[in-house]
Order: sequence, then structure tokens, then C-alpha cells
Amino acid sequence: MRQQQSTDPVVVPFLSRADKAERERWIAALGPNLHPNKIVANEDLSSDDRRAARFAIVANPEPDEVAALPNLVWVQSLWAGVEGLLRSLPEHIGIARLVDPNLACTMAEAVLAWTLYLHRDMPAYARQQTRGLWQQRDYRAPKEVGVGLLGLGELGRASAALLSRHGYRTMGWARSPKDLPGVETFHGASGLDDMLAQTDIAVILLPLTPQTEGLVNAERLGHMPNGGAGINFGRGPVLDTNALVAALDEGRLSHAVLDVFETEPLPPDDPLWRHSGITVLPHISAPTGRDSAAAIASAAIHAFVETGAMPNFVDRKRGY
Ligand code: NAP
Repeated sequence: MRQQQSTDPVVVPFLSRADKAERERWIAALGPNLHPNKIVANEDLSSDDRRAARFAIVANPEPDEVAALPNLVWVQSLWAGVEGLLRSLPEHIGIARLVDPNLACTMAEAVLAWTLYLHRDMPAYARQQTRGLWQQRDYRAPKEVGVGLLGLGELGRASAALLSRHGYRTMGWARSPKDLPGVETFHGASGLDDMLAQTDIAVILLPLTPQTEGLVNAERLGHMPNGGAGINFGRGPVLDTNALVAALDEGRLSHAVLDVFETEPLPPDDPLWRHSGITVLPHISAPTGRDSAAAIASAAIHAFVETGAMPNFVDRKRGY
């Protein structure tokens, strides 16, 4: 990549299908970080800006808006999950996803919070309260509770470290072998089954790819011990919700916390809303932090403008 002139401020297109107010909040956060370069919303780009654009900052963009930038080389996403971009962007466009330590901390906090919710039997006590039932359940110390993370990436590793510090028997599974302090790690298909067999609380932190779609199905849920529980903070289609509901209805699993769904927002008439064994969250476990994401995205743009250095792109073959 040829080195660019650091002295020439450039226009940085911002493409997003968020509503106008949200787009304006992003522009306000990105503007000072990108100075002297200028962030410009799609609707305000001139045809010269569109032709000149070699990179853009995106947050769930309309594919047409991307296609209208004929010389685009790469995009910086403000989101960690990129399955939508991989589906909609032509192969020659590099995709840099958001890798933000603050996001990993926020996710780890959510994983710990909802693990505690399940471990300390909060769903069961809430149900008892509706019946006026005073009944004490056995206490289990964290070290007696096996928490198995599916996915040991940026978010999974931060979550595993926090769970381990809290004293949980922490396990994790990924595609490739890992060596993480305080975490028993597994990989490969048989590794997943081995981990699930010891997992009281399974936490999905996998990206959505052709390999992970439907991965957590009836058979895999069947490996978990009776009374096991689950959390899906990755992507909805990784978990077969019909299989989950069947396992809950049969009493094999005790409860599930779902933050991500095949269709979002979850339609008001979806039975998942009313299932007593399911806690529905509106995709809030780790919201992108505007200030840190704006700083990270802008740093990638500055590096490219000043030195031609490309950020790390998502591996299209792996799908994440
Ligand atoms: P990441 O750094 O790309 O890590 C992905 C992890 O999944 C890696 O450990 C990878 O294994 C593993 N993996 C991928 N495909 C696999 C397969 N077929 N079999 C076994 N393991 C596989 O991703 P991240 O930053 O941790 O984020 C994970 C996902 O969380 C994102 O893709 C996004 O969908 C979701 N997310 C949700 C929220 C929310 O608010 N609910 C917020 C942000 C992100 P290797 O380590 O071996 O490569």
C-alpha cells in the first residue's frame, strides 16, 4: 500500500442504518478523534467524496451505501460481530472489526452477573415467590459449579479470567488449543462434548459462522448434566432454541438467559418471552462503548492515512 500524505485531511464516510439521532451521536464522538480528517454521514457525501473514499467507518451499513463508494478498500466496523458485513460486502473489501478491551470488560461483567443469577438459583426463587413458597435450596460454592465458555476470543478470555477469579471451576472451548491460567481448555468437536459433560452453566460467546450455526443443538445440550443452565451472549442462531425449549420443558435443563436471537428485536408474540425457564434480554450484555469505539476506529484510520498501515482484517475463510 502506497504511503499517503499525512498533511492532506481526508473525508471519512460514516455509513449506518441507525436512526438519524444515533448517527449524529456517532458523528459527534468520531469528529474530534479523527481531526484533522473529517467524518461525514453518507447522506452528506458529495460525489467527489464517494469517488475518493478508500475506507469508511461503518455500523450496520446498507449494502447500497457501501456499493456507492467505488474505490473502497476497507471498512472499520464499530461492532464486534461481523457476520452481516461478511454476508453483504464484496470479497475485495477488508473488514476490520471492533476489538475493544472495554467491551471485553463489559461482557465479562455480564457473564459474571448472569452466572451468579443462575448459580444462586434466582430464577427458582422468583418462581417460588409467585407461589408464596418458603423453600431453601442447597448452596453450592463457586468451585463446585462448572462454567463452560463456548468461545475463547477477546470476550471469552476476559470472561473466563473473571469467572476464574471469582472461584468458579472455569472451562473454555475454542477452535484451536489454548493455554489460559485458571481455565481448563478444550478444542475440537470431541472437546466440546467433554466440556459440556462437566458444565453446569454453559456460556455461548461464539461468532455466527457456517460452522457455528446450529452448533448447540439437542445432541450437544444432551451432554450437559441434568439441571444444567445456559447463557447465550454470542449470536442467536448458534443455539437451536427449539432444542433448548424441549430440554427445559422436559426438566433436563433448568434455565436459560438469552440476549441474542435469530430475529431481533424478538417479536412480541414469540413464545420465548413467556417461557418461565427463559430470561429474555434485549441484546444488552455488551453494548459498544461510544467513546472507546470512536477512539479505536479513529486510531485505525489515522494509522492508514499517515503510514498506509492496514488494520487486521476478519478472516473471510474462517468467518470471524
Ligand atoms: P473473537 O475474538 O473472534 O473470538 C471468537 C472465538 O470463537 C475464538 O475463541 C474462536 O476460536 C471461537 N470459534 C469460532 N468458531 C469456532 C468453531 N467453529 N469452533 C470452535 N470455536 C470457534 O470474538 P469475540 O470478540 O470474543 O466475540 C464473540 C462474539 O460475541 C462476536 O462474534 C459477537 O457475535 C458476539 N458479541 C455479542 C455482544 C452482545 O452484546 N451480546 C457484544 C459483542 C459481541 P479460536 O480462538 O480457536 O480462533
